[in-house]
Amino acid sequence: MPDPRRPHDLLGPSAPLVLPLYQASVYTLPDLDAMDRVSDGQEPGFFYARDAHPNAAYLAAQLAALEGAEWGQVCASGMGAIVAMVLSLLRQGDRIVASNRLYGRTMQLFTQELPRFGVQTMLIEPSDLDGVRKALETPARILYVETISNPLLRVPDLGGLAELAHERDCRLLVDNTFATPMLCRPLELGADLVMESLTKMIGGHSDLTLGFVGGKGDLAAKLAQTASIWGVPSSPFDCWLATRGLVTLPLRMKAASANAAALAEWLQAQPQVARVLYPGLPSHVDHEVAKRILPQGYGNMLAFEVRGGREAVNRFMHKAPGIPFSPSLGHATTTCSHPATTSHRYVSAEEKQRQGIGDGLIRLSVGIEDLAGIQAEMVKGLQ
Ligand code: PLP
Repeated sequence: MPDPRRPHDLLGPSAPLVLPLYQASVYTLPDLDAMDRVSDGQEPGFFYARDAHPNAAYLAAQLAALEGAEWGQVCASGMGAIVAMVLSLLRQGDRIVASNRLYGRTMQLFTQELPRFGVQTMLIEPSDLDGVRKALETPARILYVETISNPLLRVPDLGGLAELAHERDCRLLVDNTFATPMLCRPLELGADLVMESLTKMIGGHSDLTLGFVGGKGDLAAKLAQTASIWGVPSSPFDCWLATRGLVTLPLRMKAASANAAALAEWLQAQPQVARVLYPGLPSHVDHEVAKRILPQGYGNMLAFEVRGGREAVNRFMHKAPGIPFSPSLGHATTTCSHPATTSHRYVSAEEKQRQGIGDGLIRLSVGIEDLAGIQAEMVKGLQ
């Protein structure tokens, strides 16, 4: 009878072409000496899935290679990755300097959760390098930005920010979720740590929740320990799905970015549309920076404002069911969202107005379908 704990005894000289799913929470080892060798990193192996497991290790290595990172860690979600990343660095009394346009939950982490532990965050406009320089005159542990912001798709100068951070002995942390390593590799522009929510474009099929952190040099062991102690480990099945999503990521990002660029141009010509926000358009406030930061394409995310406010948005949703309203992004086919009632629901009316997030603003996560099909659905929605 073959031993179920030793699948290789069953396989003989054959091997699966793809990494199987290791749906196990614990591993068995032959003796204490083997446990010592695995624990001390002298030999590969696993003992407890909250610390590490094969599907996460494989996925992390692939993502690290794509990001140009020396090491990577997969966590339970994008938020899990952000929490692991900042908690591995922060001490009581520390200061964070962060973009004033972060994903809502990240903003809550920085402005509501971390102050309970004595960590304060100063919000800055990341495109104003003089303002960032000034903010960093008071010592800060972390400078935190997103490559492409939600929903106005602002693109800060990552190289310039890295220089400013390093002059002040501060680390630049970048949320690269909207760009993915297909469009931008922040570590190559000087960032110290990069993260992505794999739930979005990298998973690509809206069926998993995961996050990734990659970096160079120190911190790998500290980050892995933080992720285990604070309890943000990844599920093997979700890692297995993300590994599968990763195979088609280059093709999906290329096709979806091309569709988004064409749609942005097309939307500009529609009379029902008041403005279109896409970093690839010369009219976008950060177009010149985006040309440098995103040389491979400007991504699959775009936003546009319909005339007629909330009522016109509801009409769009009813008339264009082929572009479902779903408050996430990165699905293989096109979806829409409404920042004012989803991601920015709890942002004050004044702040929404300051940022230009009105009731008529629709965010599109453009997919890989035939462009003509997306346009036909958009025409119905804009009627
Ligand atoms: N960062 C960005 C830019 C996001 O849009 C999101 C989620 O929408 C996250 C981080 C958090 O990722 P997750 O939902 O996988 O925790």
